[in-house]
Amino acid sequence: MSSKKATHQQTKQHNRDLVLKTIIDHDAISRAEIARRTHLTRATVSDMVAILTREGLVKEIGYGESIGGKAPILLSLVSDSRYLIGLDLAQDRFSGSVVNLRGETKYSVEYPVDNKDREQALQLVYKILDQLTRKQWKPLVGIGVGTPGLVNTREGIIVNAVNLEWQDLPLGQLLEKKYKIPVLVLNDSQAAAIGEFVYGGEHPSDQNLIVVNARYGIGAGILINGRLFQGDAGWAGEIGHVVVQENGELCRCGKQGCLETVSSVRAVLKKLNLDSLDEAQASFALGDRTSQRVVAAAAHYLGISLANLISMLNIQKIILTGDMTCFGAAWLDVVKESMRSASLSRLSENTELELGRLDYRACVLGASAFLLLNGYSLLFQQTN
Ligand SMILES: [Zn+2]
Repeated sequence: MSSKKATHQQTKQHNRDLVLKTIIDHDAISRAEIARRTHLTRATVSDMVAILTREGLVKEIGYGESIGGKAPILLSLVSDSRYLIGLDLAQDRFSGSVVNLRGETKYSVEYPVDNKDREQALQLVYKILDQLTRKQWKPLVGIGVGTPGLVNTREGIIVNAVNLEWQDLPLGQLLEKKYKIPVLVLNDSQAAAIGEFVYGGEHPSDQNLIVVNARYGIGAGILINGRLFQGDAGWAGEIGHVVVQENGELCRCGKQGCLETVSSVRAVLKKLNLDSLDEAQASFALGDRTSQRVVAAAAHYLGISLANLISMLNIQKIILTGDMTCFGAAWLDVVKESMRSASLSRLSENTELELGRLDYRACVLGASAFLLLNGYSLLFQQTN
C-alpha cells in the first residue's frame, strides 16, 4: 500500500471510529448532530453511517423532533450486533461473562478455585470459556482476561500470579490458539478501573481516574486522559506490595509489612481469625471492638497509599472497589481522613473519593471493555 493510500485508510478508520463512538455515547442521535459533535462534514458522516449500518452495528430507529424543516432520522447502536467475553480470575473464584456492546451481561459462569495447582487452574479457565462459547454468541469478537498479579499485556503473559502458581504463563497465546479469537490479558485492578470508567456512570472520555481495587489483594488501575496507563512493564498501580509498616507481618511476596498485610480482605480475615468476609462484616456491624480496630487500621493504611498516589499524580477522582468496600461508609470515612492527613491539603481537598458502582462485576466488564478501549477495529474483523 502506498503511504498516501495508507494515510487515507487511517483517516477513514479514524472517522469511522469517531462516528461509532458518538453513536455509542448516545441512546439515539441524528446524522446532523453527529456532524456537529465530531466536526466532520455531513457527507463524511453519511458515508461512515452507511458503513456501520452495512456492518450491522448501527440502525435507524425512527424520527426525532423537527427543529423547523424535516424531522431528523435517529440512529442507534445495535447492542447485540457483537459479543465480548470478560474473565475475572480472582484469588478464590473464577468468573466469566458474555456481554454485548453496551456491557449488558448475557450469560455468566462462576467456579470456586480452592487449592488448584497451576494446571488445574488453567483447565478451569478452559472449562469456563468452553461454556461461554458453547451458546453460540455470534459474532464473538474477543476475550479480555483480568487476573491478579504481574501481567505483560503486550505479550499476553502472566508473569507472576502467586496464588495460582502461574509464572510466565502465555495465557493470551494459549487462549487465542484454542478459541481462535483475539485475547487481551491485563491485571485485575486495571480491568476494574476500565470497568468503572466505561460502565460505572458518566465519565468524560478524557478523564483522569484512579480506581483502587481492595479485595484479596490490593491494586490500582490508572487512567490518564481516558487511556489505561500501564507503565514501562505493565505494572503501574501495583501498590499492594509497597511496605507501609516496617517490621510488619510477613507478606506472601516475602517482604514484611506490605499494604496487603494490613488493608486487604486476606489481612482482615487473618487478623480476626475468620474464614469469610460475611462473618467479618457481621461482627463489624455489631460493633465488635476487635473488628472495628482491624478494619479501621486497614482503612488507615489504604488512605496513606492514596495520599501517595494523589501526591504523585494529582488525579482528583478516585474510585474504591473490591470486597473491602463491604465495610461501607465507616470504612470509607477513615480512608478519606487518613488520605487527607497524609497529604497536602491543597492536593486532597479537591480529590473526590467514592465507592465504585459495579461491585464485583467491575473486573469482568472492564476486561471485556478493554478490547475496545483504544479503537473498534475488532468489530470489523469477523472471524467466526
Ligand atoms: Zn507483599
